[in-house]
Amino acid sequence: MNAPFRAEKRHYDYLIVGAGFAGSVLAERLASQHGARVLLVDRRPHVGGNAYDEPNEAGILYHKYGPHIFHTNSDQVVDYLSQFTEWRPYEHRVRAVVRDKLVPIPINRTTLNELFGLDLKTDEEAAEYLASRAEPVDEIKTSEDVVVNAVGRELYELFFRGYTRKQWDLDPSELDKQVTARIPTRTNTDDRYFTDTFQAMPRDGYTAMFKRILDHPLIEVRTGVDFRDVRDEVDYGHLIYTGPVDEYFDYRFGKLPYRSLKFDHQTLEQEQFQETGTVNYPDEQVPYTRISEYKHLTGQQSPVTTVTYEYPSAEGDPYYPIPREENQALFKKYEALADETEGVTFVGRLATYRYYNMDQIVGQALATFRRMQERANAPREAALAAE
Ligand SMILES: Cc1cc2nc3c(=O)[nH]c(=O)nc-3n(C[C@H](O)[C@H](O)[C@H](O)COP(=O)(O)OP(=O)(O)OC[C@H]3O[C@@H](n4cnc5c(N)ncnc54)[C@H](O)[C@@H]3O)c2cc1C
Repeated sequence: MNAPFRAEKRHYDYLIVGAGFAGSVLAERLASQHGARVLLVDRRPHVGGNAYDEPNEAGILYHKYGPHIFHTNSDQVVDYLSQFTEWRPYEHRVRAVVRDKLVPIPINRTTLNELFGLDLKTDEEAAEYLASRAEPVDEIKTSEDVVVNAVGRELYELFFRGYTRKQWDLDPSELDKQVTARIPTRTNTDDRYFTDTFQAMPRDGYTAMFKRILDHPLIEVRTGVDFRDVRDEVDYGHLIYTGPVDEYFDYRFGKLPYRSLKFDHQTLEQEQFQETGTVNYPDEQVPYTRISEYKHLTGQQSPVTTVTYEYPSAEGDPYYPIPREENQALFKKYEALADETEGVTFVGRLATYRYYNMDQIVGQALATFRRMQERANAPREAALAAE
């Protein structure tokens, strides 16, 4: 698969850069629905983008770029992906180590009872308790304001302050409110991390699903190939680019800031390491943010287990766009350039400089395909109307 790329003088209708969800879904749609010939390249040595998984030496299926849990409210996305995979029902649960206790996160009634030695019995009692601790903030501007306003300073410091400072290397008071605004606080005892209508993992893993998505005679996949090395070699009609938008334009306005992660994957000679898929460590003195154990996600049986420690980092692959106003302003400049670039479609998380979940990227790719279809049909419809 990684043989040096030879410029065969074959014409491709589409050159697609990036074999993650965005690039792979579009390759599949264009080949299967339009009979288009597609060349899909990725500079990594594999398909699947950040969702890539593989068995390690001990035979445990793990996620190379950190734990990926599939959840969605979109029937359209589930129907689409279900053509390429069976599913294993899985509801993710997360605990946080706080004051030497292991308590549910998002904060719920159980969290409050266990942490503060309370006996809150109903949603109403929990809501009253939270309201009594909340410290109303007049104008909510930052991530700190969101949390302090909802649950007060003590819970903010226990669960959010340290975690956020580690994750972003910024204090929550310096981060846009959207970062913590999407973290709910519950008054019931639901301890699932997500509440989406569909929560499941691809039964044979993500990579197996990607291989089925890309298994089409009109799709040629080249991994270990960087767009920059082939952009002038390949004869193609239209470019679909799912890589970093600033890189495409040679960083002409400067680099878009990202936060990265270092993953420390460890295989342990024990059947189970922790009681839930993920355990968070909000304490700022602990250098990692969370530990995830894959066997919970995959249901795999084995006498050994594999876990991943996540260490936030300034250096490394671009994972999380840093949500600050000036970064959005910089992105807008690249977006304007992208909009006026003929013959190129920019799609996916790196091309749009936004954190998206996998289902949102599948939805974005399907919507992009529909728009391309409409555009392709427009001249024909105009001609028919003129007849
Ligand atoms: C740590 C972490 C955990 C996550 N967990 C979840 C989760 O639990 N649930 C969830 O729904 N989502 C999760 N996500 C988000 C998920 O990873 C993304 O939604 C998804 O990967 C986006 O797909 P994409 O195709 O846009 O990008 P990617 O998967 O990043 O694919 C882009 C591809 O383009 C390639 N590329 C870039 N530039 C070039 C170039 N010049 N030449 C060739 N190839 C290039 C890259 O190598 C990459 O493979 C998580 C993300 C991170 C970082």
